[in-house]
Amino acid sequence: MKTIGLIGGMSWESTQTYYRIVNERVNGALGGYHSAKILLYSVDFAEVEAEQRKEDWTAVGELLADAARRLECGGADFVLLGTNTMHKSCAQIEEAIRVPFIHIADATADAALAAGYARVALLGTRYTMEQDFYRERLRARGLQVDIPTPEEREMLHRVIFDELCFGRVLPQSREAYLRVIRRMADAGAQAAILGCTEIGMLVSQTDTPVPLLDTTVVHAEKAARLALGLEKA
Ligand code: GLU
Repeated sequence: MKTIGLIGGMSWESTQTYYRIVNERVNGALGGYHSAKILLYSVDFAEVEAEQRKEDWTAVGELLADAARRLECGGADFVLLGTNTMHKSCAQIEEAIRVPFIHIADATADAALAAGYARVALLGTRYTMEQDFYRERLRARGLQVDIPTPEEREMLHRVIFDELCFGRVLPQSREAYLRVIRRMADAGAQAAILGCTEIGMLVSQTDTPVPLLDTTVVHAEKAARLALGLEKA
């Protein structure tokens, strides 16, 4: 089995989900006492969030590149970054290591295309929804990407940073998210990408008939397949 390197802590709430899913998938495949081999570098999210607000992506990229180097030195066979937003700085991480870097948007686009979707709604932080680094990556793989209105983006971003990153899951926020998903599906999106690793704590497939692509699940399942040798990086 290969060793997964995970840069987590953004926020630690969603890193728990990665840890659980990877172990569930590996144990599901191998049975018995089997579990995943994981090296986790969990950052102090306060340091990351402060640089995000300053939009100093180079500084935070260096912090993450350093984490990736440590994972590689520790024996990780490939590296994942457990946040959509910080893929903004993925070039710095990729330059810092020789082992493969598994991009969350590529894994998500592949999952969307495999499911037969051509047009998707993208929900996430303001950075992920509004900047090119993520949308263009999805578009490069052939997807049409719709983003929420400015007011919706404001609400989605606020709920992530003021509630979900603190583990607060509120029914009124779930309703607000579901309203956005419903509206975008009515406007033509065939599926909604939960493009922030905490959104799955709030909204799940049982809440809506609109197909959901949860980036945390997609990314963690990809890591499990790579670790098991079922897929090549
Ligand atoms: N986990 C979030 C994401 O997937 C937001 C936290 C962050 O800004 O890194 O984008």
